[in-house]
Amino acid sequence: ALERYASLRDLPATTTDGETIALHMNAGLMADLPSLQSSGAEGVGLFRTELQFIIRNKMPTRSELSALYARITDAAAGKRVVFRTLDIGSDKVLPYLKPQDEPNPAMGWRAIRVGLDKPGILRMQLQALLRAANGRPLTIMFPFVAQPAEYWAARAALDKVIAREKILGHNLPAQLEVGVMLETPSLAFAPLAFFKSIDFLSVGGNDLKQFFFAADRENERVRRRYDLFDPAYLSLIDMIVGKCRAAGTSVSFCGEDAGRPLEALALAAMGFRTLSMRPASIGPIKHILRRVDLSAVRMLIDEHRMRGENPRAALKEWLQESDVL
Ligand code: PEP
Ligand code: MG
Repeated sequence: ALERYASLRDLPATTTDGETIALHMNAGLMADLPSLQSSGAEGVGLFRTELQFIIRNKMPTRSELSALYARITDAAAGKRVVFRTLDIGSDKVLPYLKPQDEPNPAMGWRAIRVGLDKPGILRMQLQALLRAANGRPLTIMFPFVAQPAEYWAARAALDKVIAREKILGHNLPAQLEVGVMLETPSLAFAPLAFFKSIDFLSVGGNDLKQFFFAADRENERVRRRYDLFDPAYLSLIDMIVGKCRAAGTSVSFCGEDAGRPLEALALAAMGFRTLSMRPASIGPIKHILRRVDLSAVRMLIDEHRMRGENPRAALKEWLQESDVL
């Protein structure tokens, strides 16, 4: 299948009505990095840093992390890598950092909540990232930010680490971008000033969908019950994109839905100009985007969702009739 899409590798994902969508890849291991070249991804839109913590039975050291982040940055060869700070808790538990039994770990002590309660771990990771960048551009994303105050606290921790690195005489990044992952509906309702204060926002659709519909993403009975095309969910997405646009803040989508054909089209039609997905999805998604009129997709989606109807079946049928799928 990869060969089938190889001819598209160096072509842009430009729709027939002239909209270009940047396709990035999700990664979590050094071994993922060769896919950056082979898939034609423009960058790593989400680097999940928790794997290095999970595969060890003790906390990795700052220098181990820094060496790894430097190798990843080297391998990206100038392409942007969005490093997401540690997202543990929920389904990803560390043997050396166990929360007490939590009845609902997905809604428990996880991600940035752990980082803010255990600032030593967050500082260590931020320092490792800054040292790995060693003067090169750096992009940092905080996971599972549910309210602006959590971002402010994480940002303050980062600023302190930067000030200290400067005193110690370390090279600071040539450019630093700091953003958040929107994974709880609450953050979508934050005031516009918050959206203006961040460098970028990425929608983590896996968790966002789970919390919007109150449907456990791990529970086979309910996890496919609600889809991205639910009109209320589309309204939420519309609101998020609208607020980012109004704030002049770049917005991307990095949940699994970005790598599914119909969903990716809908996300592009709803206004996302950057999608991040597993590398194997980049070819197929690019292929479809290059064959479609995005404004027609948007019209079809709006027609249905305004009536409270799920547009999935109609979109699929229209795409088949127009020979896109
Ligand atoms: C998400 O929640 O959509 C996401 C990309 O993060 P993860 O799947 O690692 O929770
Ligand atoms: Mg998530």
